[in-house]
Amino acid sequence: MSTTESATATPDETQTFADLGLSETILKAVRAMGYEKPSAIQAETIPLLLEGNDVIGMAQTGTGKTAAFALPILDRLTPGRKKPRALVLAPTRELALQVCEAFEQYAGHRTGVHILPVYGGQGYGVQLSALRRGVDIVVGTPGRIMDHLDKGTLDLSELDYLVLDEADEMLKMGFAEDVETILASTPDSKQVALFSATMPTQIRRLSQKYLNNPKEITVKRSTATSSTITQRYLVSAYQQKLDALTRILEVENFAAMIVFTRTKNETETVAEKLRARGYAAAAISGDVAQPQRERIIAQLRDGKLDIVVATDVAARGLDVERISHVINYDLPIDNESYVHRVGRTGRAGRTGDAISFVTPRERGRLKSIERATKQPLTPMSLPSADDVNATRLSRFDDSITAALDKRERVDRFRDIINHYVEHHDVPEVDVAAALAIVAQGDTPLLLDPNEHVKPAGFSERKERGDRPDRGDRGDRGPRRNSSSGNFVAYRIAVGRRHKVEPRQIVGALANEGGLDRGDFGRITIKPDFSLVELPADLPGDVLGRLSRTRISGVLIDIEKDRGPGGPRQGGGRSRDGDSRGYGGGKRDEKKQTFTGNERHERKPRHRKG
Ligand code: ADP
Ligand code: MG
Repeated sequence: MSTTESATATPDETQTFADLGLSETILKAVRAMGYEKPSAIQAETIPLLLEGNDVIGMAQTGTGKTAAFALPILDRLTPGRKKPRALVLAPTRELALQVCEAFEQYAGHRTGVHILPVYGGQGYGVQLSALRRGVDIVVGTPGRIMDHLDKGTLDLSELDYLVLDEADEMLKMGFAEDVETILASTPDSKQVALFSATMPTQIRRLSQKYLNNPKEITVKRSTATSSTITQRYLVSAYQQKLDALTRILEVENFAAMIVFTRTKNETETVAEKLRARGYAAAAISGDVAQPQRERIIAQLRDGKLDIVVATDVAARGLDVERISHVINYDLPIDNESYVHRVGRTGRAGRTGDAISFVTPRERGRLKSIERATKQPLTPMSLPSADDVNATRLSRFDDSITAALDKRERVDRFRDIINHYVEHHDVPEVDVAAALAIVAQGDTPLLLDPNEHVKPAGFSERKERGDRPDRGDRGDRGPRRNSSSGNFVAYRIAVGRRHKVEPRQIVGALANEGGLDRGDFGRITIKPDFSLVELPADLPGDVLGRLSRTRISGVLIDIEKDRGPGGPRQGGGRSRDGDSRGYGGGKRDEKKQTFTGNERHERKPRHRKG
């Protein structure tokens, strides 16, 4: 009845969405989604569908099949006719809803496109009134669509497009007969697109019977990755990815790293967050102009940058020997991209590491990648706080060893330290510990093993100071801008009664006022208010912003403390409150920290023998 032309999709690396023949409105929506290039199945099927062909598309889950049919339909559909013009059949309610959601997003600013999900389990009422008002696109499960057809409540007489999404799944779920009935009872003139991960004979037969000279596209699957690259994966919820990445950065011994994200927007976000954590990171995407991209790559090569966050397009052909690690922050949409990404490491005969973040829903994608690369990925777990601490301690040791190697400078300092030890009668090891504190700043060397997920917001700043033990990497990236230590006490209208904790105060003031850790001195919590030492030279606009800050819902009403003699009983330097130098929130409370006036209280624990 019909012939089938087959093609195997070999992705053209330079193809853009604009090359596919989509209109500007659709391109705009795609740009807004942050998609940078079409996936293999999209690149092949979109032009064919725009030309009006019936299409059979075979590709794994997660390869972007929804856009492959939704974009051409939206492109060609004139909305506003009462009867549905497009029908998408999907095997389950969840998938139907997902497709609807994708349609809404891809429709972008095209107002007036009405999309209706139709599935069993939902009352008929909503569906009926929507159908009566008129819809352009119906997305539904075959069973419920059949119910409507039987009842005469769904009129498909003007249908132009019919999509069978996940056809093999639909048949597995026993919808063969319904699908066939729907295919047979819709206009012959309709265009049909059939998508499936596999091609059982039943589907073959169905398409021979109901599709008109379909073009068949298969996304190529067999590709290989180099065996010198260790490939691992980490199952992580989307929201945990940044935390996971931070820990991996701490424990992995990397030289340079490429972090791949799915969208351009995300390259910026992730790079920004890494910079905030003290890493020398930059983003490249198709939006970054060529000279700028080249500059970033040169910096990566020279070690001025350690991390580049990139999209597939931007990292195309990138060849930097220093890259020891590739992180798939998001899994790529096709297996070809996976192979390209992973191939950015292990250059010039070196070994490399690839770590892929897989959300629980993406396990199927993982399997497909493993099949395609013919190489299983090894599971890894999130590095624990203990793992992180072990690395921090060994790096700390290494930095001491490295410093001891600098004989001449050690000789010069030895005299100074000797002088101190003799005049203060302090054991050398205490002096060494004190110097470690100086080097460390006021942030703890170690993570609290009980802290699983870092609090949002301030923790990003906190991380920066955590890194002076990074040996030769420690001095790259932005530095915390510690203030001179010339502090003045401010009074805020929240206290113990409000169950406020120092970390909350620091968090709120840091966020609202753009302050940094070094900007905080002693925090004293009183029953009704608290005193916070802040730099004497705080700019007026910062104070303005702080005055509008709320903690636990209470306006903090910040003002300079006027001391015990002032109208409101203050007591800036008193020791009777819950007073402590702030040194990084809870984790640090057990630790001795040097902030301001504590320095003079510290007594030698031992006499020198
Ligand atoms: P499939 O139907 O093949 O399982 P989907 O259409 O659900 O795949 O797409 C999987 C994911 O990939 C979705 O999150 C989607 O937003 C995203 N995606 C689709 N096309 C692209 C693209 N060209 N670039 C980046 N992400 C894409
Ligand atoms: Mg799908």
